[in-house]
Amino acid sequence: MKDRGLLIVLSGPSGVGKGTVRKAIFDNYSNEFDYSISMTTRKRREGEKEGIDYFFRTKEEFEQLIAEDGLLEYAEYVGNYYGTPLDYVNQTLDEGRDVFLEIEVQGALKVREKMPEGIFIFLSPPDLDELKSRIVNRGTDSDEMIERRMHKAVEELKLIQYYDYVVENDTVKNAARKIRNIIESEHLKVTRN
Ligand code: 5GP
Repeated sequence: MKDRGLLIVLSGPSGVGKGTVRKAIFDNYSNEFDYSISMTTRKRREGEKEGIDYFFRTKEEFEQLIAEDGLLEYAEYVGNYYGTPLDYVNQTLDEGRDVFLEIEVQGALKVREKMPEGIFIFLSPPDLDELKSRIVNRGTDSDEMIERRMHKAVEELKLIQYYDYVVENDTVKNAARKIRNIIESEHLKVTRN
């Protein structure tokens, strides 16, 4: 029987660049693992596509799935739900393919409890000033929201100890390469526990 695939979880504070790094990884190594498309109740942004960026659902539909235990994890983040559909993850791992999750810290720690055999990677900012300027430059948050996100980031940085790896996002290219190397090394391990 084929070995079960690896579950790879990329997480880190808001604004650190998880989405950009994830895209760089998939642009370069997309045939090596499958991306788990999350479900969310947040509004679709311009350019986002159903079933590619997210599965966009109503709050009622999302809560129905929570009640049916259909999510590996979910979190409420800045007023919306985000969650990982469970069946897709299990089926893909059973087929021997790796699954890649890009989720916020609260959700990642829940996955760690349920699937400790996963590989947990924390993407960290070079420093807090840099993180703040990235959030400010994104231009999508009010001053109050920026302060809330920064406060949250400081709390999240204290949770690095629960991860297997920490990768600094100095440049997107470097971070993507390091993460690809981590995954490759994990595949070369003699035993996994
Ligand atoms: P955004 O609204 O910017 O697309 O995402 C907000 C945050 O939710 C990001 O930190 C993103 O990584 C996280 N996120 C996306 N999908 C999921 C998910 O399925 N579960 C959890 N816990 N977080 C997610």
